[in-house]
Amino acid sequence: MKASYLYMNTKIYRGAERTMNLNYRFRLYPSKAQEMEMLETLESCRWLYNHFLGELKKTKKVPPKYELQAQIPRLVKKYPSLKNVHSKTRQYVLWQLYSNLKGLRGLKQKGRKVGRLRFKKYGRMKTFVYNQSGFKLLDGKLHLSKIGDIPIKLHRKIKGNIKQVCIKREQSGRWFAIFSVEQKPEKLSTTGRAVGMDLNTQNYLTDSEGGRVEHPHELLKLEERVKIQQRKLSRKKKGSKNWIKQASRLARVHERISDRRRDFLHKLSRYYIENYDLIAVEDLAVKEMIESSYNAKNKADSAWSTFIQMLFYKAEGAGRTLVKVDPKNTSQICSRCGAYVYKPVWIREHRCPTCGLVMDRDHNAAKNILNKALQEVGSGRPELTPVEMRPLLHSMGGASLVEEAGSPHHL
Ligand SMILES: [Zn+2]
Repeated sequence: MKASYLYMNTKIYRGAERTMNLNYRFRLYPSKAQEMEMLETLESCRWLYNHFLGELKKTKKVPPKYELQAQIPRLVKKYPSLKNVHSKTRQYVLWQLYSNLKGLRGLKQKGRKVGRLRFKKYGRMKTFVYNQSGFKLLDGKLHLSKIGDIPIKLHRKIKGNIKQVCIKREQSGRWFAIFSVEQKPEKLSTTGRAVGMDLNTQNYLTDSEGGRVEHPHELLKLEERVKIQQRKLSRKKKGSKNWIKQASRLARVHERISDRRRDFLHKLSRYYIENYDLIAVEDLAVKEMIESSYNAKNKADSAWSTFIQMLFYKAEGAGRTLVKVDPKNTSQICSRCGAYVYKPVWIREHRCPTCGLVMDRDHNAAKNILNKALQEVGSGRPELTPVEMRPLLHSMGGASLVEEAGSPHHL
């Protein structure tokens, strides 16, 4: 859809210094014996999940959760191996099942075509959860009831109250503990500074003060390695022992990439939140419609939306303001005099014939993004919430412009 005639409202999000839910993810190093226990726990959870799903499929109307929960003691008596699973973990399986059902129903209500929930096949259960109890962080170890004290690498300090821990097995066979933490708002002192940022493929980000953040070199190197491992995999016989080994090696590289990227984005977003009261970015969802070459850059883009989401919830917790502006013409307009200076993508420099300003293209764009945001915030317009945006979205053919408002539950 060509969007040149489309006016998109600026979205302003003001943080309220409220309590946030955050996830911390750490690598676990179980012994062989512990790993066996963990795999068995996954299997028991999978069995329980399938059992309850079977029960649900028998009935026309979905019974309330507590009715099924009441069956658990009887099941444990009948199948003693369930005793090796912590009681809260067993209950959580039911919670998972019901939340999957709810998700499915939600999609159906939106008019999507969805099938029914399916039984989980062997190996498809990847997580089990301790909610509120059954776990404890000791010195360098994570104590899990029924399993033991598993060595853990805490590379970040956990701040706040741990609500639950989710144990996850990745495709590569590595194990992780994901802690859900309730964190009190971090009071940051005002800085009196505002910044705009242009996210682009040339480098990673250019801000309105001329700061440039390059795409992490390390990530590029790892992406090269993906190609190599993929080629190796394609030479192996599918399903053979060597193929499985190679597939897990490839999965490992993918996981490392997403680890590093997440880490990089956390640091970057923290830097901007700490140093600026107001942060202006382009509305990526709108940019997506305007730029026809968009598909080619999908990969960089998904990282950008993760980045913006991080900015969003960090701003929310710290009382900072995040503004998403209409990306229209941000790269063409002169940030000093406002003249329209057309330049195709490959022209990397902004040269204004009207006022003589010469500046890096992305730096100029970042300044425009900041200017747009300041105009909106300064003009005292009523705050626009994502909800108020909705009617407009529908009239544009249902493109999903609204980001899920603050969902820090990224695993
Ligand atoms: Zn100018």
